[in-house]
Amino acid sequence: MTDVLTLAHDPMRMSTSDVLADHFHKLVNGEVRRGAENGVNVHVGLGVHPRSINDQVDTTLELLPDFVAHPAVVAIGEIGLETCTTVEEQVFRTQLEIDYYPKVIHTPRRAKREVLERIIAIVDDVGAKDVVIDHIDPSTIDVALEAGTYIGITVQPGKASVREAVGMIIGCPDAKFVVNSDLSSQRSDCLSVARVLRALTVEGYADRAQKACVQNGRDLFLR
Ligand SMILES: [Zn+2]
Repeated sequence: MTDVLTLAHDPMRMSTSDVLADHFHKLVNGEVRRGAENGVNVHVGLGVHPRSINDQVDTTLELLPDFVAHPAVVAIGEIGLETCTTVEEQVFRTQLEIDYYPKVIHTPRRAKREVLERIIAIVDDVGAKDVVIDHIDPSTIDVALEAGTYIGITVQPGKASVREAVGMIIGCPDAKFVVNSDLSSQRSDCLSVARVLRALTVEGYADRAQKACVQNGRDLFLR
């Protein structure tokens, strides 16, 4: 059976804590069931995405531990920063401090380099382990490598291309990559991870392909 990790994000306007709770509920119940009906083993990451923060975020953070206790949940995410406001940083820090679960961290399209540097500083300050810093592209790979965390490469129109992912993985032999499709309501390609795996294998990097596209994610989320 195919294993998939789906993450909390901002599929609609997250105007109240109830909307976020309903989003979490849909992920741990609806999406897991929908996957099972279609031969896909769905695992879930939950968290408050920086674009989902509203003035009831404290209530959401109080509810989060109960949702996270659901057996389908294997990660906290997406969490992260979008514009580095004070409240974003507080919400990010609170979620990084949740024990046990690996974290998937969103980086924004705008000012990616500057925001990434701020994210790494906070991750280091909290001492968070088992972290994937996601949506890294050729313009930010040098900064992400310094963090020493897992590096997420999102292969999706508007983020990294297959060629860019292949280039980063071949160029950084010691990095721990997690290739993902970010399959969502944005333009997406459900085969993008398979395309990277195939392209790397054809170029003679089957071992790195297996690690970046399959094994690293399994080691981190399905332990
Ligand atoms: Zn994201």
